[in-house]
Amino acid sequence: MSDKKLVVITGASSGIGAATAKAFSDAGYPLLLLARRLDRMQALNLPNAIIKEVDVLDLDAMKAAINEAQDSYGEVDCLVNNAGVMINGKPQSQNPDDWQKMLDVNIRGVLNGIHLVLKNMVDRKGGTIINMGSIAGIKTFADHTVYCGTKFAVHAITENIREEVAGHNVRLITIAPGMVYTELLDHGCEEEARKGWMDYAEQIGGALKPESIAKSVLFSYEMPQEVCVREMVVCPTGQEP
Ligand code: NDP
Repeated sequence: MSDKKLVVITGASSGIGAATAKAFSDAGYPLLLLARRLDRMQALNLPNAIIKEVDVLDLDAMKAAINEAQDSYGEVDCLVNNAGVMINGKPQSQNPDDWQKMLDVNIRGVLNGIHLVLKNMVDRKGGTIINMGSIAGIKTFADHTVYCGTKFAVHAITENIREEVAGHNVRLITIAPGMVYTELLDHGCEEEARKGWMDYAEQIGGALKPESIAKSVLFSYEMPQEVCVREMVVCPTGQEP
């Protein structure tokens, strides 16, 4: 069995989460991978990985999966709260159900993960929680109103808890990617908003590959425990805003 500690990654079935799962697996970490599309996580074919079909809004299912993984690999040392959805458009024309999806997954999903692992980390004075924020959690963008709201919340929640648990040797980290080619645009963006994103990405020579964000996540985690990379903003060099 690996001497490396257990890492939990939510939203590991595609994009940044899948790339992060591969990067941590290549570095030798045992993993618990969570998302709703089981087949996509199984197709990653990673060793020492427990894979569970879990919706991050289902606290009980998430708890059961974490307990099972801890029985095999010991305490969770790192949680990567990556699962998220982006449904861009204008608030006056968007379906309010789409706002609810973003608010639920991007905020409550992140809080659910934190709720399940933080007490134990504080008690044993060690551990790291990495939340996937966004450049849209730092500044606003056209057609991103509700998504920006959720990502500003992720940044605020992360920093607030970081301060509260800093004295317990627990790290809270925000990774804030810029534009990355993933399935994020496929969750139901309005056509104009989707086109605006794709056109700008093309104009700047392309968005990032998810592997670049995965490397950043791994780097921040692998810094010694006394070093907290509080926030890392990782964008394509050509991205202006
Ligand atoms: P993807 O759409 O490729 O990945 C999103 C992941 O979240 C999927 O694995 C999906 O899995 C999972 N997910 C969504 N809803 C749920 C749910 N209810 N329960 C469990 N898992 C869920 O997009 P990205 O890889 O781009 O997104 C990953 C994170 O990166 C998000 O938080 C996003 O906001 C953030 N981000 C992305 C940027 C980009 O340009 N791509 C820029 C900045 C931040 P499944 O559907 O199988 O459940």
